Amino acid sequence: MLPFQELALDPRLLRSIQHLGFTAPTPIQAEAIPAVMVGKDLIVSSKTGSGKTLAYLLPMMQRLLKSRPLSAQDPRAVILAPTRELASQIYAQLRLFVANTRLTCAFIVGGENFNDQEKLLKRQPQIIVATPGRLADHLEHKTFFLQGLEMLILDEADRMLDLGFMPQLHAIHAAASHRLRQTLMFSATLDHAEVNELALSLLKSPHRVALGAGYDPHKDIAQTCYYADHLTHKEALLLHFLRNETVRQLIIFTATREDTERLATLVQTAGFAATGLNGKLTQAQRNAVMQAFATNKFQVLVTTDVASRGLDLLQVSHVINFDLPKHPEEYVHRIGRTGRAGQQGVAISLVGPKDWQALQAIEQFLRRPLEFSKVETLPAKFNGQVAAKPKAKIQPKKANKPKGETKVNSVTDGSAVLKKKAPKFFEGGDDGAAPMKKKQK
Ligand code: AMP
Repeated sequence: MLPFQELALDPRLLRSIQHLGFTAPTPIQAEAIPAVMVGKDLIVSSKTGSGKTLAYLLPMMQRLLKSRPLSAQDPRAVILAPTRELASQIYAQLRLFVANTRLTCAFIVGGENFNDQEKLLKRQPQIIVATPGRLADHLEHKTFFLQGLEMLILDEADRMLDLGFMPQLHAIHAAASHRLRQTLMFSATLDHAEVNELALSLLKSPHRVALGAGYDPHKDIAQTCYYADHLTHKEALLLHFLRNETVRQLIIFTATREDTERLATLVQTAGFAATGLNGKLTQAQRNAVMQAFATNKFQVLVTTDVASRGLDLLQVSHVINFDLPKHPEEYVHRIGRTGRAGQQGVAISLVGPKDWQALQAIEQFLRRPLEFSKVETLPAKFNGQVAAKPKAKIQPKKANKPKGETKVNSVTDGSAVLKKKAPKFFEGGDDGAAPMKKKQK
């Protein structure tokens, strides 16, 4: 692969890249950076951990360093992300690049003091990293204007739409609607009607980059499912993996906030340093937990989907889905917390009767069955057959989905498993916390 030097980037950017220890662009960077540098709008689908943040930060910085501002007061670039966690990861990377330059930046997300943010915006930062809801609130208050905006970047556009941010994205777009604006849109999948609708209204003849959609198999993540009969069985499996796998750091995803606390205690009692994270904590508490996990004070993090995106920690060797996520694309994001930047990762999913429908939705989304295995000492009676009760109707699959009414799952006992119709994929949103209210009994 060509080295970064050949991308004709500003020497200050090259110095920061060297400081990070990166030698060559990842495939997504190699494709996106030159396209953005020639001024094209871009729509990109890419896998988790593929280096997409630098794929937009580098050409964005290049443009801001090389061209004269359109306005002396207005922000020159805005990066929008669906969650505070992802926004904060982006901001951390951005600051590394800004540190070498005279550019200024600000971080504007929900859950933090509005007045403090107003003061920040009045200082006229040139780059803003924000969540769309809070930024749109400031726009409405006329704290700042976007007429001079040169670059609008949407990271995880699909997720922002799932969370119901379409109106805010349109408001931000409308406030910055002029022909000199360049717009970049990143999404785990481009098979999303609203993403395409948004792209049509925001982007001008975009260059499309599809380097491995979200559902392509991730070569660095070994994914295996295990059947579980009930909650106690899941807990026994969890402890088995903790004791028998070589775990550097582990993230356990659960469906409910209550379970994050209960499981963190269970894991602590078994002798591992564990902490819980959920949407009930204040932003300051969430930051503190993330920081403690990132600096290895805890080996295990138990969380809801609040942490399924944005966490970029190379020490995470394992992800365990204690419950399967309600939204299938969330599965891709959860397992993408491991196997980052070329490291090998292991993703284990525990599938009980209550996870059965979610499993089918995930397999439809991935367009392939997931592998099953079993722990000899902890066999399960449940093997998916429960879902195929006599009355359950087998629905024909919609177009675009894998063909055939039945599918043989690769369970180790070789039993064929009937598939029911998968639930709807996108049902609007919360911020990822507690997608399912019911506890497993
Ligand atoms: P991202 O997809 O942006 O979340 O990046 C995933 C991981 O890859 C992060 O840890 C980045 O720091 C790392 N990364 C990004 N670009 C490169 C590169 N060119 N070479 C090596 N690692 C990279």
